[in-house]
Amino acid sequence: MNGRLTIVGLGPGPKDWVTPAAADAVADADYILGYSPYVNRLTPRAGQVFEASDNREELARARRALELAACGGRVAVVSGGDPGVFAMAAAVYEAVEDNPASADGIDIRVEPGVTAMLAAAARIGAPLGHDFCAISLSDNLKSWATIEKRLRLAAEADFVIALYNPASKARPEQIGKAFDILLEVLPGETLVVFARAVGRLDEEIDVVTLATAGDATCDMRTLVLIGSRATRKVISGDGRSWVYTPRSERK
Ligand code: SAH
Repeated sequence: MNGRLTIVGLGPGPKDWVTPAAADAVADADYILGYSPYVNRLTPRAGQVFEASDNREELARARRALELAACGGRVAVVSGGDPGVFAMAAAVYEAVEDNPASADGIDIRVEPGVTAMLAAAARIGAPLGHDFCAISLSDNLKSWATIEKRLRLAAEADFVIALYNPASKARPEQIGKAFDILLEVLPGETLVVFARAVGRLDEEIDVVTLATAGDATCDMRTLVLIGSRATRKVISGDGRSWVYTPRSERK
């Protein structure tokens, strides 16, 4: 008997940002696999097996999940945010592409979640109101030359840019290089939002300009939003402000 493999998005942190469908997929599973911080967010019920692993072991985790499901298990692989955004869903399909028979008869599903970019945008206003793109700054799976090219072209195309994985202990300096490249194309007054640990107790949201963004500190729990030329602050009569991008190119 073959089983089921659901790749589940747990959202950026808070329980009430987990969809009911994602919660059901977790509750239903015999096995829960994932990167330790995500697995540790969950409380096992009787009979559930938790297998936490390192974030560099995504392909091995995907293969293991397929094996467990092939033996009839109901398996949930959990990701933070959305599982299709720089996360486990693509790793599972890579494993299937490498070994198509490993997926035979398995009911494979993806349960979407709130990705960090959307949670960060919601906190600050509506910066993604016009066209935008998302780029991961991690060079584990692509070259830094590719990242530089995408940053430059995204800025030239005037997208709002969501930067995932902006920094880690191994590469604290790359975000500064990214800002330098963007500054070659975009004006110094372009708005930049640092959204750290969105939805957590230590959440912190800062709005700065591209010219000063290099002075800010960011870590692997930060999502950075770079405005387009149209992204601006809007201020209410009583002095509160938000960051937004108008829907229309002409506004
Ligand atoms: N699948 C995840 C992204 C994984 S990549 C998603 O859809 O959100 C990991 C990156 O996501 C982090 O380096 C950070 O840039 C961002 N991120 C994840 N959770 C976050 C949170 N709560 N607050 C801010 N950024 C977050």
